[in-house]
Amino acid sequence: ERRDGDQPEFLQAVREVFETLEPVIEKHPEYEKAGVLERIVEPERVVKFRVAWTDDAGKVQVNRGYRIQFNSAIGPYKGGLRFHPTVNEGVIKFLGFEQILKNSLTTLPMGGGKGGSDFDPKGKSDAEVMRFCQAFMTELCRHIGQFTDVPAGDINVGGREIGYLFGQYKRIRDEYSGVLTGKGLEFGGSLARTEATGYGVCYYTAEALRVLRNDSFEGKTVVISGSGNVAIYAAQKAEQLGAKVVTVSDSNGYVYDPNGIDVAVVKQIKEVERGRIKEYAERVPSAEYHEGCSGVWSVPCDIALPCATQNEINEASAEALVAGGCKVVCEGANMPSTPEAIAVYQKNGLLYGPAKAANAGGVAVSGLEMSQNSYRLSWTFDEVDAKLKSIMETIVAESLAAAKEYGHEGDLMLGANAAGFVKVANAMVAQGVL
Ligand code: NDP
Repeated sequence: ERRDGDQPEFLQAVREVFETLEPVIEKHPEYEKAGVLERIVEPERVVKFRVAWTDDAGKVQVNRGYRIQFNSAIGPYKGGLRFHPTVNEGVIKFLGFEQILKNSLTTLPMGGGKGGSDFDPKGKSDAEVMRFCQAFMTELCRHIGQFTDVPAGDINVGGREIGYLFGQYKRIRDEYSGVLTGKGLEFGGSLARTEATGYGVCYYTAEALRVLRNDSFEGKTVVISGSGNVAIYAAQKAEQLGAKVVTVSDSNGYVYDPNGIDVAVVKQIKEVERGRIKEYAERVPSAEYHEGCSGVWSVPCDIALPCATQNEINEASAEALVAGGCKVVCEGANMPSTPEAIAVYQKNGLLYGPAKAANAGGVAVSGLEMSQNSYRLSWTFDEVDAKLKSIMETIVAESLAAAKEYGHEGDLMLGANAAGFVKVANAMVAQGVL
């Protein structure tokens, strides 16, 4: 707290994890002896750099770039890149810290890392985005590599950006390797990576519902926030599993469609036209558009899947969800619920699936992309999708097993933190004090 007082998101993420780890630490005195808690909150390396590029008007622009290599105990650093004006060191550190435990939960050998820039792609031309990506990679390429650190996408970093970043890495290093995931299918990408996080959230939710409530998505009303990569494919899978998704949103507002969101229209607006979600209501007569994004949590539902950004559900929004009949919150975004919101879920007995477990499908398929790159072969969509589903089901099972072991049966949050942590902690103890 003394060192990181100016990084509220990072402190929030660490506090949440440490509070739930008390029974784990009690049972494992060797972690304390090896200073695991003190070491795990300190990134192994923080890289912060200038990104200078020229806009279409010929003016020089300067942004800040980050790559935080947080923990390599169980594999090379792995985690996405975020381009958003709110990006700063504390935001990247919270995401990187969460990533350590999330990657561990996937059962694949990946350490934790995260990066990005305060660059805002909104309103930028394609050529500007390309020049920015090239400038960003010109520095980043010194710090990453297929065996050291393998970045992926996150907010505002999708297929287009990964393509430009990969091209620049290849050009500078003269090396064709799986240094990034989320690549295009023509150059080493994996089928089902685009869908992975959103589908994974639904596989996780379906499995938790089955095991803990003997229930399913069938006939349920679902509220989703966001309309980006995670939200789109969460909506698609929830509908495939028999639910009706009634909302999507962006940072300006949300749409409510009582007939069920038409995912094809959202994809056209967001993925093809790069437009605003407001346009959905202009095209679909049954839909209403509301300014302001927090109103989405007042829409009555059975299941809420927050898929936009951190701290999008505060205490009042959580109360609104409960008042609207919501019984399940599973997180597609990273840390979308404030600690006060989580307390509301717990007080009201909601089924709560925390981000590091529920949204681990994206990085899991990134791990599968790395495997395919190493083998130099490509699995079919169905093969990857089946592996993804099985990984998400394993995450539910391992979380519940850990929750039981540490005396909190049914607690998916404590279970995810404990299961993810123990594997990393054991590796850190075995590798000595570093
Ligand atoms: P996208 O950039 O594709 O979409 C982000 C969506 O969230 C957009 O609809 C955006 O609206 C909205 N949003 C972003 N910032 C805010 C804000 N401050 N307030 C309200 N809405 C906002 O990103 P992703 O879908 O990839 O990521 C969404 C979340 O999921 C993030 O928390 C990310 O860390 C997490 N995640 C992503 C993974 C992936 O594989 N992509 C993997 C695991 C987690 P607008 O267009 O107005 O900005």
